[in-house]
Amino acid sequence: MCGIVGFTGTQDAAPILLDGLKKLEYRGYDSAGIAVMDQKTISVNKVRGRIANLCEKTDNGSSVPGTTGIGHTRWATHGAPTEENAHPHLSNDGRFAIVHNGIIENYLALRDELIREGYQFQSETDTEVIVHLLERYYRGNVREALLKTANRLRGSYALGVICSEEPGKIYAVREASPLILGIGIDDNYFASDVTALVAHTRNVIYLEDGEFAELSQRSIRIFDCTGAEIHKKTTRILWDVQAAEKGGYPHFMLKEIMEQPGAVRATIAPRIKNGTVEFEELGALLPELPGIRKIIITACGSAYYAGCAGKYALEQLCHIPVEVALASELRYANPLTDEHTLLIVISQSGETADTIAALKECKSRGAKTLAIVNVVGSSVAKSADYTVYTWAGPEIAVATTKGYTTQVAVLYMLAICFADHLCQLGNDKEERLDTLLALPRLIQQAIDMNPSIPELAKKYHKSKALFFIGRNTDYASALEGALKMKEISYLHAEAYAAGELKHGTIALIDDHQPVIALCCNPSIMEKTLSNIVEVKSRGAEVLALTFRDNQKILPVADDLLFIPNVDALFSTAVEIVPLQLLAYYVAKENGCDIDKPKNLAKSVTVE
Ligand code: GLU
Repeated sequence: MCGIVGFTGTQDAAPILLDGLKKLEYRGYDSAGIAVMDQKTISVNKVRGRIANLCEKTDNGSSVPGTTGIGHTRWATHGAPTEENAHPHLSNDGRFAIVHNGIIENYLALRDELIREGYQFQSETDTEVIVHLLERYYRGNVREALLKTANRLRGSYALGVICSEEPGKIYAVREASPLILGIGIDDNYFASDVTALVAHTRNVIYLEDGEFAELSQRSIRIFDCTGAEIHKKTTRILWDVQAAEKGGYPHFMLKEIMEQPGAVRATIAPRIKNGTVEFEELGALLPELPGIRKIIITACGSAYYAGCAGKYALEQLCHIPVEVALASELRYANPLTDEHTLLIVISQSGETADTIAALKECKSRGAKTLAIVNVVGSSVAKSADYTVYTWAGPEIAVATTKGYTTQVAVLYMLAICFADHLCQLGNDKEERLDTLLALPRLIQQAIDMNPSIPELAKKYHKSKALFFIGRNTDYASALEGALKMKEISYLHAEAYAAGELKHGTIALIDDHQPVIALCCNPSIMEKTLSNIVEVKSRGAEVLALTFRDNQKILPVADDLLFIPNVDALFSTAVEIVPLQLLAYYVAKENGCDIDKPKNLAKSVTVE
């Protein structure tokens, strides 16, 4: 969610900070600011809205001299997205400037305490208590003040701090919010994620909860929560800078949709070995599978819908009951889990606060835990017993596409792998593997065979609402298809199990109401066809998405989208692609900010 950056080195800090913030824009934000230190003077610049405003205000950074600084994009949690509430915040004595991602849960009590002691607050944020605490505890040693301050805070925080008494130094503190140090040659950096660092360095250190770091031009020192110095390993980032650039596409989202065949291939191909699916990372889990009585999949947003799609393959192939639960619910549901439960958590960023909490809750109740994550070294990856990476590469658009399809692909592979270990795969094992291996090609075909999508978007973009209907695996795809539409085009879209329509929703169907009917599962298609006829009889305009050889749909649909023929158990990974494109082109027609939809953030690190 939002982001922070820090720089210390020999060059001017402001342009580097602004550039870093631009790289983090995709995470979602509503205001931004930088604080730059020149000798002992700290200057702060903040704006509402986009980084472009901050560039304008500071003449692309050139009006703010100084080689040390911190920057922030804010996604407001406490206080409106105004300039006053934007970060950095300054201490009353002007010594400290800080930026913060996260939420300080006990800020009200701290605020009262600090006000009683005479500290003046300039903003409505929870963050501001931190900077006043720093001033209060500072007795000539910033590290000591940081430790004392951190001890008073409850909640989540990634903090960047500068102090005018220590020119050339930046401090980074992490608790339940991501923070990564970048090691340069004559300069050092920190940022909320590696996309802001790769232009400068590939050598990074992941801070863990409770740790903090002191960076100067030539040194990085790291300390644990007691203040003891620790040594951590350096990780080399392997993906190249272009992976985080648009590469000629007008939007990251379109680029990432088009990258799906490659991303899904990278997820699947290396794991098909010796005529089966092999997950080296699951070595110790596999012998325990016969003792597993129940699988719970938990996640938020699209990752939750990936779970809904994967449930069918896991249940059908492994014969183990699968529950799919929203992490924000599961964490407070006193979940009934024990050592016979396998909890699968899914998170693209690996930093989703609710997912981490649900994971910890179920783990403490004995569940075995397996994470499906895209970002290496993320919190979810570190907290789970086992981690399977999706290898989707960096996903920059806020609305996920390749993140989602690779999650679905991993679930399909887990279903085959588990079923094989449980000796549940019959004669169709080879066929299933062939389908898995064919998925990248089928996804490419699904992109290629629907050139009419931009035209269809012109027809449907003015609708007040869209209904997505489907049954079984089609229903799972409908859930994600409708979410994509809502997220980026701001059109109201509702996914409905097609059989549920007449239990209420059909009252909303009248003349020209668009209904997007998913019909990619032959086993249940006749039933969905009847539901299509029902809505048509009430005047609906039906856009059907179906497999290529389906002749039966022709007489009932007004418009058609196609996918190639694919085993229905694995169809969501393919059928979602035309729906992503439809959402993309509808959003484009509506003039929306596709890569950075309003009010949304890429990794939701708050509850
Ligand atoms: N809770 C802080 C605020 O509202 C920080 C939000 C953020 O993570 O950007 O200012």
